[in-house]
Amino acid sequence: MEYLPIFVDINKKSCLVVGAGDIAYRKINLLLKAKASVVCVAKKCGIQVRELANNNKIQYIEKPFSKEDIKDKALIIAATNKDVLNTEIAKLAKKNNILVNVVDSPDLCSFIMPSIVDRSPIVIAISSSAKAPVLARLIRAKLESTIPNAYGKLAQLVGDFREIVKNKFVNAKDRRYFWEKTLSGVVAEKVFIGKTNEAKAILKKQINDIEFSEIGEVYLIGAGPGDPDLLTFKALRLMQQADVVLYDRLVFKPILELVRRDAELIYVGKKPNNHSINQDGINSLLVNLSKQGKRVCRLKGGDPFIFGRGGEEIETLAENNIPFQVVPGITAALGCSAYSGIPLTHRDYSQSCRFVTGHLKNNDINLPWHELAKEQQTIIFYMALNGCKNLSKQLIKHGMAKDMPVALIEKGTTPEHKVYVTTLAKLPNLVDNKTIHAPTLLIVGNVVKLREKLNWFD
Ligand code: SAH
Repeated sequence: MEYLPIFVDINKKSCLVVGAGDIAYRKINLLLKAKASVVCVAKKCGIQVRELANNNKIQYIEKPFSKEDIKDKALIIAATNKDVLNTEIAKLAKKNNILVNVVDSPDLCSFIMPSIVDRSPIVIAISSSAKAPVLARLIRAKLESTIPNAYGKLAQLVGDFREIVKNKFVNAKDRRYFWEKTLSGVVAEKVFIGKTNEAKAILKKQINDIEFSEIGEVYLIGAGPGDPDLLTFKALRLMQQADVVLYDRLVFKPILELVRRDAELIYVGKKPNNHSINQDGINSLLVNLSKQGKRVCRLKGGDPFIFGRGGEEIETLAENNIPFQVVPGITAALGCSAYSGIPLTHRDYSQSCRFVTGHLKNNDINLPWHELAKEQQTIIFYMALNGCKNLSKQLIKHGMAKDMPVALIEKGTTPEHKVYVTTLAKLPNLVDNKTIHAPTLLIVGNVVKLREKLNWFD
């Protein structure tokens, strides 16, 4: 280790910044966040530093740097564009045992400033020991995206309840177990969505009612259409926290590989012999597992509320007072159209789009065909492969042009993504003559023409 990572208390301490340009401004802001009392010395002043001075946030002195400026300072930052001056400031500071940082000159510094992820009171500092600051910033960006913004509020809440929990659980091991559960359970999740008061109420109940504290939570998560990069941050975070994962056929395998390594995986989709756990079975499984205190991830393809029966699953949870949350996913229509270069709306071709199921009960054709057979809209049929011929016949019968372009998208957004473009009239022929693999999505509308120009993926 080339540097000792420490956090320095500069609350109300007098800190000197020499220079008043953009870089100085950024450093001043950091010092202010740590509640320092900032004195800025420079011959010329940038607009932003001037504004801070005008608002009495800092003391700005318009003059060249002189030796006396370092007197009684706890810390100095040299942010001028003059190397000779920076060197002089560094020497002076070191001679007087004052911490000094010279921007972009690690050799002159007695301390260097790390990249930080600020979730105050939690602060993560990342340093490359001045070797690769860009890499440190990239690591920081990764952390920023995986650590929820509200971690600071969570730390605050823990602080507020620390003594109460200490008195309730005298044994340190019990205390640790309690906090570990709490910090990755419902209380934390409530804080993350901004419901701090609810979080407090639940935490109080958990402290006093052990049985209540043993109830888990269900995360109904949309896994998107296939490409794992289309998962949301929240989906990934909860997938990596869940103890059990219930998934079905549509969840693409590389996505499953992202769940917590030691999580129990339960397949609840259709089996090859067509036997599957029915919906009631899934609903009670969710209830039973969460009553055992497990954090259960119910992972569904696309978005759970679009042709996903997600509503039915959480209805049962609500009836049983099981906490749950719903994480939206990118639905097949959005993923497939984007990866096929087919905008679903376009000012020249389509002013609206409709998501329709092509899976018609008992092959009953009960869709509002007259509403669907319209020129200026895009229709996206889910589960349409078997009903393709009927759809084509009905739309033409209700007035849609025979040469209306259609796109059949197979395994959209995955490496096996394939798009067949044809016309409404020729669609039955296509389905008869090609071996098409599920899942497939059908897009009907003039927007399909745009693919010729806008295709970027395959
Ligand atoms: N909840 C899902 C839809 C479930 S219905 C969502 O929001 O996407 C199942 C249908 O979704 C399939 O029959 C197919 O029409 C469509 N689908 C899902 N993933 C798909 C994919 N990767 N490519 C093409 N179609 C897909």
